[in-house]
Amino acid sequence: MNIKENIHDLKEKIAQHKCTLVAVSKTKPIEDILEAYDAGQIDFGENKVQEMLDKYEQLPHDIRWHLIGHLQTNKVKYIAPFVSLIHSADSLKLLKEIDKQAGKNGRIIDCLLQIHIAKEESKFGFSEEELIDLLAGKELENLKNVRIIGLMGMATFTDNTEIIRSEFNHLKKFFDYASNEYKMPNITMYELSMGMSGDFEIALEEGSTMIRVGSKIFGER
Ligand SMILES: *Cc1c(COP(=O)(O)O)cnc(C)c1O
Repeated sequence: MNIKENIHDLKEKIAQHKCTLVAVSKTKPIEDILEAYDAGQIDFGENKVQEMLDKYEQLPHDIRWHLIGHLQTNKVKYIAPFVSLIHSADSLKLLKEIDKQAGKNGRIIDCLLQIHIAKEESKFGFSEEELIDLLAGKELENLKNVRIIGLMGMATFTDNTEIIRSEFNHLKKFFDYASNEYKMPNITMYELSMGMSGDFEIALEEGSTMIRVGSKIFGER
């Protein structure tokens, strides 16, 4: 794997889209991350709190850390001082804890609401109905230390590109609807995090603003 080349190739591919590349470095060593960093990559994604914390401590502090995996309420405190964006906000309880820990750190933490769009049963993420209820309700407004800046979704794990495309297309339409309909001081949705190594090209065509790419940069895990 030539990490630098992979970063440059991906940056070229997303150049004509208004899109951020999040390099998913989970399970990969510090040296690999530094190689990507030296190629100008600043946004990195991790799915485990402890691993992100270890890497944060060892790496340059201008790196923007994205939490992309399920976050347990009792672990928010470890990443609250530095996390840049939480892609996987999947319950009101979690959002309340993020708000509390952000406040303790004198920060406002940006979050995406995770929505499940895939056919397969998923343990995490809101359904569309749940999301509408949350956005229409009063509780989010009180979370002054949380900013909801968009949505995150994952397509069904399949080789069938038609299914993937239709799921991304559907998510984008829902995103456009929800971001227009629900605006509050701390809810301004402009980021749509969708697309991974296997499907980011489709995601870009369907309007992704953030792709989360791991194995295409760092090799298989
Ligand atoms: C691991 C992971 C990715 C990256 O997966 P690749 O297929 O290696 O690009 C993206 N998003 C989430 C939520 C992940 O857990």
